[in-house]
Parts: sequence; structure tokens; C-alpha cells
Amino acid sequence: MTDTLGAHYLDNAATTPLRPSVLDIMTSVLAATYGNPSGAHRLARAANQVVDESRESVSAVLGAEPGQIVFTSGGTEADNLAITGAVEATGKRPVCSAIEHHAVLDPVVHHGGLTVGVGGDGRIDLDQLADVLRSHGTELAVVSIMAANNETGVIQPLAEVSALVRELAPDTLLHTDAVQALCWLDVASVTADYDLVSISAHKFGGPKGTGALVVRDRARSLVPLLKGGGQERGRRGGTHNVAGIAGMAVAATETAAQRASRVPEVAARRDRLADTICSSVDGVVETGVRSPGDRGHKTANICHLCFEGIASEALLFLLEKHDIMASAASSCSSGAMEPSHVLAAMGFDRDLAFGSLRLSLGYDTTDDDVETAIATIGPAVERLRQRERDGDRS
Ligand code: PLP
Repeated sequence: MTDTLGAHYLDNAATTPLRPSVLDIMTSVLAATYGNPSGAHRLARAANQVVDESRESVSAVLGAEPGQIVFTSGGTEADNLAITGAVEATGKRPVCSAIEHHAVLDPVVHHGGLTVGVGGDGRIDLDQLADVLRSHGTELAVVSIMAANNETGVIQPLAEVSALVRELAPDTLLHTDAVQALCWLDVASVTADYDLVSISAHKFGGPKGTGALVVRDRARSLVPLLKGGGQERGRRGGTHNVAGIAGMAVAATETAAQRASRVPEVAARRDRLADTICSSVDGVVETGVRSPGDRGHKTANICHLCFEGIASEALLFLLEKHDIMASAASSCSSGAMEPSHVLAAMGFDRDLAFGSLRLSLGYDTTDDDVETAIATIGPAVERLRQRERDGDRS
């Protein structure tokens, strides 16, 4: 998608553009439906009706009952509520995979939890999970395995995970972070067996700062993170973000309706992008594939590559000069560059991990975006390598 500033936006896993219909509903709710949904008069009831109708829509998309939806401030809060709420309800430990988003990983580590490794293809090691469940089954509060990874797009085997947990640790709750999944997978069916499911509106054309956690009946004793006014049946205090919730409901409903037709289109563009770069640039590794070009267990949108001998930051800088917006998976914390924990868990060599590039497509990505990226990335990588060689000689 080329925006009014001329950008080729290939960073949809970071966030997506707001759908025009979402902007419309939010503008109208912000302007006219300003009552506090917890109040008693008719303006309050009007706002409460917006929240109720939105709850119906979101629950339909997620295959849950309306009363099982807890609206949150986004994916991070939904994940924290799932992990911390389960730990506080049971006094037991959490478990997650080593490649979870920090919104899951950090609360798991904070509560003294365990992590389970992944294979080189980015999928959870089910044998290791089974071992953990056999050795610690009775001590576990919740097992949290994401539906699809935000860096590589690798889809996790949720059905196998739930079968293992139900067999080996039947009292343990199951959570999945489905924040990256809603555009690409039928979340209602792949998470049907999960007690707790997190989503975030800004990953599917909705507003930032709005999300939800499905809390199925087995998890009803979850302890709230935000205590306060008793909203969300006492599971999440705080006045509702009525416009955000309405926007998320519209975005979720439209996304679910368009998914079947958009996924193959996006996958074809992503495949062209990945195949062309992999065949025309030397020293590049595509992550999350079982063999070159086999993207059978990746979401349709992510092309994630690691280039030998370059630094992601320098590549992103050059790409931006050509109006291509993408991202890397390494992050700068306390001044020191750290390679992505996801790539480290997959066994990637540190130097290669520093040369990572994530191109993430969306429903609005065009052929022109893809062709521009193809025409730009190879020469940019070559230029950076040449610079490195020139630097070595001087
Ligand atoms: N989980 C995953 C997999 C994500 O990709 C993200 C955001 O990038 C989050 C959680 C956090 O969601 P939010 O930005 O709504 O807090």
C-alpha cells in the first residue's frame, strides 16, 4: 500500500492502517455516544449498547460467548492478564515457549515460569513440552503458546499442544496469544480448545490501545490485573474505551469476512517477494521454512530473511530512503543491540540474526509495493556489503 507520503508499507505485523469504516464508526461514537457505559441514564445506556453490540460481534469472530470477552487496552494487557491472572488464581507457575512476544515472556519470567524450546523451523518442541508437563504438571497454572509468531510468521501446532496439556496436565489452563493470527487464521476454530485467547485490534485494521481476552469458563477464577470500578463483570476495572471497542468490533467482523479471499492473494505476493529475493541475492536465509520455499506452516503475510554480512539498521535506513517501511527483529535495549530472542531460540548464529529483515504484508499491499521492494533490496544489500569490503581495505 502506497500512502499519501509515498511509503510502501511492508510493516503490517507491527501495525496496520485503520480501516475507513473503523474511522467512521469511531468518529461517530466519539462525537455522539459520549455517555459512560456504566451509568444509568439514556446517554449511558446508549454507550453501553455500543459496548454490548461490539461484544457480540467480537465474540462471534472468536467463537466465544459474549460473556467470555474481556475488553482490554490491547494485546499486552490481555497477555499479562492471562498469565498473571492465572498465576494469582492458583499460586502455581506459568509455562510458555521461548519465542513468545515479550508481553507473554516477561510476565512468565517474572512469575518464575518455565520456557520450552523450538526447533530450527520455529515450531515448539512438543517432546520438550511433554517432558515439562510430565515433570511439573501439577505445579502449573497456565501453558501459553502463541498462535503465530510476530517475527517469523511461524504458526504453532495449537491442536497438538492442547492435546498434550489436556492429557498430561489436565488442571492447567491453556492460553494462546492470537495477536498476529486474526488476519490469517480462523481464530475461532484454531483456538476453540483454549481457555484464554488474546487479540489486539491494531493488528487487523482497528485502533491501537484496544484488545480483548477470551476467558472461557474453566478460567473464570482469573484474578483481575486492574481492580477498580467492577467493569467487565469485575474482571477488568476502568471506564470502557467505547470508540476503540466499537472500532475493534467493525475491524474484526470485516477481517473475518474478507479473510478467505485475501489470504491467497497475500500469500502469492509474499511468495513472489521471498522467492525472488532468495534466488537473486547471495547469502540470504529465509526463516521458518522447513526446506527452501516451503512456507506451509507460516502465516501468509510474513517474509522474514537474514542476510549475511550486513546490519539490519543500515539496511532499514537504505530501504526507507526508497520509501520502503519494514522492520528488523533485533532490538536496542539499554544501549546494547541484542539479537532477537526468537532467532536465538531457533539456533540462528548471532551475526546472521543481526542481519534480519521482516517484510510483513497486509490486505492492502499491492504488486507495486512488492516489485519496489524486490528492485530495491538486492542492490541495497550489495551496497552495504561493498561498503563493508571497502571499510575492511581502508
Ligand atoms: N503479542 C504479539 C504476538 C504481538 O505481535 C504484539 C504486538 O506486536 C503484542 C502481543 C502486543 O500487542 P499490543 O501492541 O496491542 O500491546
